[in-house]
Amino acid sequence: MTNLTSRQQEYLNAMGIDVWLPKIALAAENIEQSVGWVERSETHRDEPHQPEPRRNDDISTLDWEALQTRVAECQLCELHKTRTQTVFGVGNRDADWLIIGEAPGADEDRQGEPFVGRAGQLLNAMLQALDLKRQDVYIANILKCRPPQNRDPQAEEVAHCSPWLERQIQLIQPKVILALGRIAAQKLLQTNTSLGRLRGRLHHIESTTAPVIVTYHPAYLLRSPLDKRKSWEDLLFAKKTLESGHL
Ligand code: URA
Repeated sequence: MTNLTSRQQEYLNAMGIDVWLPKIALAAENIEQSVGWVERSETHRDEPHQPEPRRNDDISTLDWEALQTRVAECQLCELHKTRTQTVFGVGNRDADWLIIGEAPGADEDRQGEPFVGRAGQLLNAMLQALDLKRQDVYIANILKCRPPQNRDPQAEEVAHCSPWLERQIQLIQPKVILALGRIAAQKLLQTNTSLGRLRGRLHHIESTTAPVIVTYHPAYLLRSPLDKRKSWEDLLFAKKTLESGHL
């Protein structure tokens, strides 16, 4: 990934990453080397196991259509009372890349699609810098419904909602999962470890053999553009991991 096309450079510029291309190359090479030796870290799970959601049937056999219908009708937690609609997920159902955010915001709640606001535009630019279109990847969230005032997801909401995402993961069978931001990463990996410590390693979860890689949330990057550089390293790490088949 050291030879960027002019188009990729354009997108990097759009992301505000334009002055450190030699360092990208350096980072990419370091990452390339590190993929060979990076430890398969067993993430320390320090959150108590969530209670099993009360569901009166097995969802592990649902196909996409049935799953989407069930999600649209879901009333397992209080968020159904305040949502405009559920935000199921979008993209290529056979994608190599699964991108997981935290929860829908106001724009997503209105439009029924994840990452359509300003953070979504930055996510699109990040993907395009990797030569990926939004339609190439699958994008979903930990929660399918918007928490009021965009507050953090609560443990009970995550416990009720996670099986929907797990079924999506089983259906997609991605090759790599990118968790965006501290909340998404901590909920997915069931840990309280800080984002800084979760970055730069391969994590594993029960529902898939695909490794999970953690990076910053695009909404955070909009507030802290200097960290875009580190996020770009994470994206390259994910790409190299996928390409190396080091799963
Ligand atoms: N932030 C998220 O985590 N997900 C979205 O869908 C939008 C913003």
